[in-house]
Parts: sequence; structure tokens; C-alpha cells
Amino acid sequence: MPHTENSIVSLLSTPAAKPRLLVVDDQPINIQVMHQIFAADCQVFMSTSAAQALQFCRTTPPDLVLLDIVMPDMDGFEVCTRLKADPATRDIPVIFVTAHTEADQETRGLELGAVDFISKPVVPAVVRARVKTQLTLKFQSDVLRKLVFLDGLTGVFNRRYFDQQLAIEVARSARAQSPLALIMLDVDFFKRFNDHYGHQAGDDCLRTVAQTLKACLRRPADLVARYGGEEFACILPDTAFSDAMALARELEQAVRQQAMAHADSSVADVVTISLGVAGQNGQNPCKAAELLALADAQLYQAKHAGRAQACGSELTCPT
Ligand code: GH3
Ligand code: MG
Ligand code: MG
Repeated sequence: MPHTENSIVSLLSTPAAKPRLLVVDDQPINIQVMHQIFAADCQVFMSTSAAQALQFCRTTPPDLVLLDIVMPDMDGFEVCTRLKADPATRDIPVIFVTAHTEADQETRGLELGAVDFISKPVVPAVVRARVKTQLTLKFQSDVLRKLVFLDGLTGVFNRRYFDQQLAIEVARSARAQSPLALIMLDVDFFKRFNDHYGHQAGDDCLRTVAQTLKACLRRPADLVARYGGEEFACILPDTAFSDAMALARELEQAVRQQAMAHADSSVADVVTISLGVAGQNGQNPCKAAELLALADAQLYQAKHAGRAQACGSELTCPT
């Protein structure tokens, strides 16, 4: 899933894009009605089958699902249960829209995790108001979820998010036998930078480093996080070791080209970084801790070899 991290300020403003609404109903006429109600305010996606709806939610999660209960391939209760069981889809709010208005049906839907229950035939003004309420709540909880995972100083992801994503990507790589690379990097002689220019300038430097790294990562699944003090980490899913090495060298150049003066550095007259790269080719699954330890050891190598450079190593197959 792409990482949609933002600066903290931009997180708090209303999103520019229209909310994404998925309408699931086996009767095209019902979908047509919803489309007419929401076309002006939302991006409306439609699905006439439960299986198709589940797939859509996993790959391109909408902001809200309007879900019919009676469908031939799988009923709405089952769809809701599956959405709530999958970490990738469980935060998508579900509203049941149904002709079944008995209390026990409504109770069952709400117990399965739906946020509301709307009866058919729908009254446009009522549906619109209820959907608007749920979309507002969704927007607010998205903001809170992101704030929990962002670093306050630099605006990139924090250690908590990094740890979580690394575990997810290691599992995905093992499942799909796809390569995975990790870059750990650290600002060179940063203590001296602080001592010379002051802590405030040090903070500005970390912000610039973070934004520079972020700008260099091109794929939506790539991620940069602040790992600690003046240390950052990048997770590169589906990336071969040689490509990760090339990217690491690019990151080194990009930070150097920011030309932030560093009078007390022993390697250059500008701020530089050292990087450690760890890769695994997908044929020999590894633990997150192994990949981290390898990247860390390579970072140590880079420091030892004179700083302002990248060192790397690929995990070898256990025999
Ligand atoms: P090396 O090249 O070996 O990495 O040396 P270094 O001086 O960068 O490493 P060291 O670990 O000795 O010092 C790291 C410094 O980073 C010390 C600490 O005060 C500073 N630092 C950590 N977090 C922050 C921060 O949030 N803001 C500022 N301004 N400085 C920070
Ligand atoms: Mg350092
Ligand atoms: Mg350090």
C-alpha cells in the first residue's frame, strides 16, 4: 500500500480530493440511485459483486462503503466481517443499506462493526447527511492515525511506524519471495554541527535531510522514517540489493548537494551522511531484526571507512 504521509500542517487541512465512496449492490438500479445522490460530492465507485468489492477495498481503499446485505455471491454481513478482519481494510467505515429493517438485522450489522444502517428505499437527504457525518469522522480518525505515526520534528514517519512497516514488508517479502532492502543512515559529525551552529540550526538540518531523502524516493511503497536522533531509515520493498546501493549513493549525493555548511566536519565542508544498506533477494526469508542488524553493521562500516559514503551487504542463504 502506498504511504500517504504528509507534513503535519497539511494533514490538518481538509483534503483536496473528493472522498472515495464504494457502493456495493447486486442491483444496478440501486447503485444508480446512489450515484445520482453522491456524484457531485464524491468519487463514486460501484461494485455488483461482493468478491469484487473486497478486492477493490484491499487494493484501493475507499473512505466509505455503502453495503447491500442480500447479494448472490456473499451476503453483506460476510463482506463486512472480512473487511473488519483484514488490517488493510478494517478502518474503512461500512454503512449497510438494506430493505431488511428488522431490529435483529440492524443489531447484527452494528455488532459486526458497521457504523450505520440505512433502509431502502433511501431518502436522498437522509443518506447524504449520514454519509457526510461518517466521512467527517473518517477524515478525523485518518489524521489521528497519521499523527501517531509521524515524527514531530521532521514530518516523516517515526520509529513506531517504521517498526510496524518493516515487520509487514518482511512478511510480504517472504510470502511473495520478493526482494527487500533496508537503508540505515546517520548524519556525520552531527554533535559538532550542534556545538558549532546551535541546536536550532541542528533541528533545521535534520528537517532538510528528511525532506531531501523523501524527495529521492520514487516508488509509492518506499518509505523514509526518523529512526532516532540524527539517524534515518528507508524501507525499499521489491528492490534488488544493487538498486538499493545505487539509491543509497544517490541519497548521499543529494544531501551533500543541499550544501549545508558544516565548518567542523572532518570529511567535507558541508553536511554529509553515512549509509548502511542491507538486502535480501527473496529466496531466503529473513527476520526484521537480521536485516536491521546487517544495515546497522554496514552503517558502522561506512563510518569506519571515512564517512560520507554507503556500504552494503546482501543476506546470504542459510545452509
Ligand atoms: P558520527 O559521524 O560518528 O555519527 O558522529 P555524530 O557526532 O554525528 O554522532 P553522535 O552520536 O556522537 O552525536 C549525535 C548528536 O545528534 C548528538 C545529539 O545531541 C544530536 N541530536 C540528536 N537528536 C537531535 C535533535 O533532535 N536535534 C538536534 N539539534 N540534535 C540532535
Ligand atoms: Mg552521526
Ligand atoms: Mg547517531
